[in-house]
Amino acid sequence: MAYSQLAIVGGTVVNDDWSGPASVFVQGRRIARLAAATDPVPEGIPVIDASGRLVLPGGVDPHTHIQMSLGDYTTRDGYREATTAAVWGGTTTVVDFAIPRPGERPLDAVRQRQAAATEGVCDAALHACVVEWDDTVPEQLRQIAALGIRTVKLFTTYRDVVMADPATVVNVMRTLQELGGMAYVHAESNHLIEHDQQRAVERGQIDAAGHASSRSELAEVTAVREVLSAARSLGAPVYFVHQSTPAAIDEVRRARSEGVRAYTETCPHYLALDDQHYAGDSPELFVCCPPLRSPATVSDVVARALAGDVDTIGSDHCCYDRTQKWTDRSDVRVMPNGLPGVETRLPVIFTELVQRRGMPVERFVAITSANPARLNGIYPQKGVIAPGSDADLILIDPTERRTVSATDLHMATDYSPYEGRELAGWASTVIVGGTVVLDDGVFADNPLPGRALVSQPLP
Ligand SMILES: [Zn+2]
Repeated sequence: MAYSQLAIVGGTVVNDDWSGPASVFVQGRRIARLAAATDPVPEGIPVIDASGRLVLPGGVDPHTHIQMSLGDYTTRDGYREATTAAVWGGTTTVVDFAIPRPGERPLDAVRQRQAAATEGVCDAALHACVVEWDDTVPEQLRQIAALGIRTVKLFTTYRDVVMADPATVVNVMRTLQELGGMAYVHAESNHLIEHDQQRAVERGQIDAAGHASSRSELAEVTAVREVLSAARSLGAPVYFVHQSTPAAIDEVRRARSEGVRAYTETCPHYLALDDQHYAGDSPELFVCCPPLRSPATVSDVVARALAGDVDTIGSDHCCYDRTQKWTDRSDVRVMPNGLPGVETRLPVIFTELVQRRGMPVERFVAITSANPARLNGIYPQKGVIAPGSDADLILIDPTERRTVSATDLHMATDYSPYEGRELAGWASTVIVGGTVVLDDGVFADNPLPGRALVSQPLP
């Protein structure tokens, strides 16, 4: 139901820098004010009772692939399905990637994706993507920035598909500096990965079950070092997507301590799943890049997340289904990689880091909402409960636990890597742009279409 005014009372408001009992007043699409919990609510304002619940800014997922075509496979969801699943999972802003198809210009890929954002039930931001450098790219990046996109994805691997060569990486980073932008880098050393894969072929282990050894930890840290050197030399900021190894995270932390504006993203699956899944019955369902790592590596990544070395958690949502994952499972170089996860991101992190290991809930808000908003140039519009910010709010009852079953989820696929796990951190109420879209298991269509967000220059 849509309200022009709304009060959320009785709950504990949590931002990344404070939490406490407070009432939140919403007017139209925005937050009007916060008030002491003891202040009376003026007559005539509809009230949501948040007693016993946490009131958080809606999740901002900095890394989602919506209707992505790579190789022979296209993920199963469009903006409508992906944002609906996001909202069910407490995420109210997604950031998608405009990866150009072969022969397509980055600018055209951006325009097409921005138009699609209005099919969503919540707002979406976007990363552009450059694969090949040519004389037209600087002007395209200027036009892309004028459209409100300041982040650009670069892949250091997937030769002949989306890989950018080292000169392209440097040229894009340099151009983005003038535009207040930042590169988002998938850092794995391509030549080391091709070497790892060739060895896997020789051992007869290039199938899904052998996936972990087809992309080494060393390949990740090697590429991170090279890109950090470029960032240091240019004085440019850089964001590393889906870091899966402690060594790579440590490289970023060290660079940061030396003044480089470098940021670490990791994903729920690098904190909550390990490579034992490749020894199971359906290893293909767990094929993602980088691969799931050993239990020891996972616990080292978790330790770094708890120590504050992880800036953001992105789902790297890729909505393939069982059939797509199964078809080419005999060759991980061909099969679709990536895991569905936009809906389970917050519950997995809340359960693993907050409930099991004591991460403060303010830090949970930082890595799942506030920091992703900052590093996409959409803060304080998103990522904070404050006057003037968008009224994207979620209510979580920390005592409520649910067992994951793909049939109960809303992603456009038929499996979840977390099947059978008991998770907390589910949003019982989700308010999107001042409208109660989800309440106690009832999903009401948002009458306000999603918007393509405009990013401000990054700090
Ligand atoms: Zn990705």
